[in-house]
Amino acid sequence: MNIILNAPSGGGKGSVAEKLVKDYNLCHISTGALFRENIKNKTPLGIKAESYVAKGVWVPDELTVDMLVAAMKDLPCAGGFILDGFPRTLKQAELLEKYVDVSMVIQLDVADDIVMKRLAGRFMCRHCGAIYNSNWDDVSGCCKACGGELYQREDDKTDVIKQRISNYNRDNGAILEFYKNKNLLHTVKVKEEYLPADTYAFVKEIIEKEGKK
Ligand code: AMP
Repeated sequence: MNIILNAPSGGGKGSVAEKLVKDYNLCHISTGALFRENIKNKTPLGIKAESYVAKGVWVPDELTVDMLVAAMKDLPCAGGFILDGFPRTLKQAELLEKYVDVSMVIQLDVADDIVMKRLAGRFMCRHCGAIYNSNWDDVSGCCKACGGELYQREDDKTDVIKQRISNYNRDNGAILEFYKNKNLLHTVKVKEEYLPADTYAFVKEIIEKEGKK
């Protein structure tokens, strides 16, 4: 089962993916996390990607697809993949067809103002990448999973957040249309009061239903 999670940055893809990994034995591939890892390790790819990520604009499609395909080959994933943050352009969606049979696309439909609020409160563990949010988690201490330091991402600053949301709104309609035409698109409308567990319950319902078809 290969699932695409489609949502703006801060829309809750990471939290949903963490739960899916546990429940369905899937591999989670976040292109944003892969870029951050490459940038941290100063790899040739990281050096090329750094300025795009810092500005909150998309890294060129070919670079992104090559990185994703390499990551998929490296991971032994009998159960399948969850793609988080990919595709972000129609071209990426089209290129992906060559490599993966997409089982379903789950869109988390989150209003811009909710995304802004959630991103501003988002903290990550520097060590294991676990995600916390000061809107509902205690972020005053260390990571509860591994004891690592919690930090706020550079690109979660307000002007970069606005840039990322505007890219998403510009490009996402064509991606949704692409998957809708293939009958693969499912949408969860995320309300402001939803906690990650609430959103996940809707996602799980979709997967269970589709799995039985
Ligand atoms: P994310 O962690 O998903 O919010 O991604 C952080 C940043 O990584 C984005 O703002 C982009 O600069 C870059 N990025 C992540 N995924 C993609 C993608 N599929 N295509 C292009 N750039 C991406």
